[in-house]
Amino acid sequence: METNPIRVCELLVGLPDVTVLGVVEDRGGPLRVHIETRTVRPLCPRCEGVVWRKDSDEVELVDLAAFGRPARLVWHKRRWECPHGSCLVRSFTEQAPRVAPGRGVMTDRAGRWVTYQVGKLGRTVAEMARELGCDWHTVNDAVIAYGQALIDGDDDRIGDVCALGLDETLFCRLGEWRIQHWCTSIVDVSAASGGAQLLDVVAGRSAAGPSRWLEARPDEWLQQIRFGVLDLSGPYRKVFNDALPHVTQVADPFHLIKLANSKLDETRRRVQNETMGHRGRKDDPLYRARRLLTKAHERLDEQGNQKLVGLLRAGDPRGEVKVAWHAKEVIRSLYRIPDPDLAAEFVTQLASDLQDDSCPPEVNALGRTIARWKDQIVAWHQARVTNGPTEAINNLIKRIKRIGFGFRRFRNYRIRVLLYAGKPNWDLLATVTPR
Ligand SMILES: [Zn+2]
Repeated sequence: METNPIRVCELLVGLPDVTVLGVVEDRGGPLRVHIETRTVRPLCPRCEGVVWRKDSDEVELVDLAAFGRPARLVWHKRRWECPHGSCLVRSFTEQAPRVAPGRGVMTDRAGRWVTYQVGKLGRTVAEMARELGCDWHTVNDAVIAYGQALIDGDDDRIGDVCALGLDETLFCRLGEWRIQHWCTSIVDVSAASGGAQLLDVVAGRSAAGPSRWLEARPDEWLQQIRFGVLDLSGPYRKVFNDALPHVTQVADPFHLIKLANSKLDETRRRVQNETMGHRGRKDDPLYRARRLLTKAHERLDEQGNQKLVGLLRAGDPRGEVKVAWHAKEVIRSLYRIPDPDLAAEFVTQLASDLQDDSCPPEVNALGRTIARWKDQIVAWHQARVTNGPTEAINNLIKRIKRIGFGFRRFRNYRIRVLLYAGKPNWDLLATVTPR
């Protein structure tokens, strides 16, 4: 059994090649452990001559909590002086990255620990700051510094991708007018990859961000992508056209069904206004039908179906809402057609039917969109890939945004999101050098 008190103390402090000078406790304050390193006298980094010991600086570092109390490591950092007149180095301070990185205010081990807690486990920066008894920014800076190093250092994180999905996400609202700032998630949605893998997030939802990201990837990586999954948006179509011309574009089924539902909503609101002269109120038949309308038809029971028919009879005199509802259901049925050729015929016919003069203008617009995206819509029947898996990732991102209460800097947001939802190899955290 160890009895030398200093040696016991050093065991508890657990840092290599460090001498514990003493432990001080201010009442109510953190535990302060004073240390110095046991390194041998270095040579001058410039002239490689012998240096003199000048003095030492006490640097206080936030460390892991000890025995339930916040702790500080007070590092008596030696300063050396070069006595050689011709040498440009006057003095320099010792470095020990295993104790703390260069200018850090947190010990190395505490920095890695908070990165894991916040990045992997999704704990909040505020919670960590409370536990360590330090400033919010101290924790956040460490998470970003080690997190960035982990993301950049993990070369295997982005593997081969068969199907690449692009999806827009709200990054934050800024300023007095709460202006929306968007970003684009770049996701591996290949069915084989076992759930989706978030590859990266880039600022904005124009073509520029994703295009630049793709241009920075090696050619052979780009060449093995077979499918590009996108919502019905021009910018992402441009990304695939420009950066991945060999890829088969697939319109995401969820987005098409969402569009059909929003056209149905538009029709309902317009007919409501035209027939009642006001926006929907709780007793208006069309307003009461709004949920029944957008619900999948097969999920309505007989009672719900009767109710929907009754409400439409009462509130939809020209049958326009009914047509929009029917359009939505027909679009949903498209995804139950097993044969690609049959599906292609079906989509062509559908696009032309929906553009017929007898349909309400909202449905005509839907028909034009389907005509414009026909190839991409039909491609789903070959590819069978969707942006559905990105939903799961978006839910993780939402959690990060909730606990991050308002990211203002995209860089911080990106690192946090990739740590939590980008599946980095956490084994590498022990060895990366913080940025
Ligand atoms: Zn020197």
